[in-house]
Amino acid sequence: EKINAEAIIALENKYGAHNYHPLPVVLSRGEGVYVWDVDGKKYYDFLSAYSAVNQGHCHPKIVGAMVKQAQSLTLTSRAFYNDQLGPYEEYLTKYFGFDKVLPMNTGAEAVETALKLCRKWAYEVKGIAEYEAQIIVCDGNFHGRTTTIISFSNDENARKNFGPYTEGFIKIPYDSIEALEKVLQSDKNIAGFLVEPIQGEAGVYTPADDYLMRAKALCNTYNVLFIADEIQTGIARTGSLLAVCGDCTCENHCEKQVTYATPDILILGKALSGGAYPVSAVLANDAVMNVIKPGQHGSTFGGNPIAAAVAVAALEVVEEEHLAQNARVLGKLFRSKLNEYIKTSSIAHLVRGKGLLNAVVINDTEESDTAWNICMALRDNGLLAKPTHGNIIRFAPPLVMNEAQLLDCVAIIIKTLKQF
Ligand code: PLP
Repeated sequence: EKINAEAIIALENKYGAHNYHPLPVVLSRGEGVYVWDVDGKKYYDFLSAYSAVNQGHCHPKIVGAMVKQAQSLTLTSRAFYNDQLGPYEEYLTKYFGFDKVLPMNTGAEAVETALKLCRKWAYEVKGIAEYEAQIIVCDGNFHGRTTTIISFSNDENARKNFGPYTEGFIKIPYDSIEALEKVLQSDKNIAGFLVEPIQGEAGVYTPADDYLMRAKALCNTYNVLFIADEIQTGIARTGSLLAVCGDCTCENHCEKQVTYATPDILILGKALSGGAYPVSAVLANDAVMNVIKPGQHGSTFGGNPIAAAVAVAALEVVEEEHLAQNARVLGKLFRSKLNEYIKTSSIAHLVRGKGLLNAVVINDTEESDTAWNICMALRDNGLLAKPTHGNIIRFAPPLVMNEAQLLDCVAIIIKTLKQF
């Protein structure tokens, strides 16, 4: 017998830790840009599992690769070789233009991996005195939930009573070249600069157009590793394969992509599997990656055959279905339509973002429940989104959306905003 939505929510409340505050909707099926709840109601998914489902729900090619691999070999651990990992590593490194990859599972694990790699490089290649290495991070960052990562968060809720904290991080304001330069000038022990090309969880903050390029140039000057956390922004989400790339600014308005800043360490997760499986990766060139030797880092599941097969399929879909281009075109349309509406609205005052990673800022305080109530009304109107930081609503649909669907969603969002 089917149990109803309230009963399922009650089970989570009773038996699950209360470490999330989900929107009350219980989903049981997904396909492309749509999800269905247990009562059969259909919704547009405008969160995409925090940008993991860029390729759309249950993409047949990705699910096909997963099922096929699951039927022949699921896990060997790295104690032995498996026939999927090597070919995946070749495909992935060529796809993003790096010498090597270190495969992990979740985003936070990949960030931890990048931090360890950066520190080891600092001691063994750069020559920083033992345990003196510092890594620069940005105010408002979100890089995950492990003890070390929350040590350099400024979100009190994420940090409080989880100490003592990991040392060795210096926080500077996001999008400030001056602040970065000042620290690099004054401290000889800087090993790396960890940055989100767009701050997703903080509320989709897009930095100045030249920020990443100038930050990377400074890192080069001071022999500091530029570490890009593209877990949320990467893999076509922002209208280019990576958010460290952008539109060509030539006069011909061509569709070419230029790389603003090539990371020394690139961190990927989420959409690397199209949301089908936890797959993350840390990419770097030999001069950095070769500092890691056997026994110094790893994971039982990292680089497992299912992950490898799924990730290859997921990356092929990004290319075959031109998801970066689609995100770029639809993103522009989304922002122009919503900006047009907002001019005459008192409920929201700003739409910002890049590609299909966008946010609307609601005219109310962070403590108010207006954005939450708007998300509840959006749900009732058939579209699922979630507030971040109280008064900001993030809009990030799967990138397999078409123009008619996007316009339908814009209509739902405007209709809903008008209810407030
Ligand atoms: N880094 C960024 C930029 C993220 O957006 C996230 C997740 O939202 C993470 C890291 C952490 O990834 P995970 O939740 O898979 O550990």
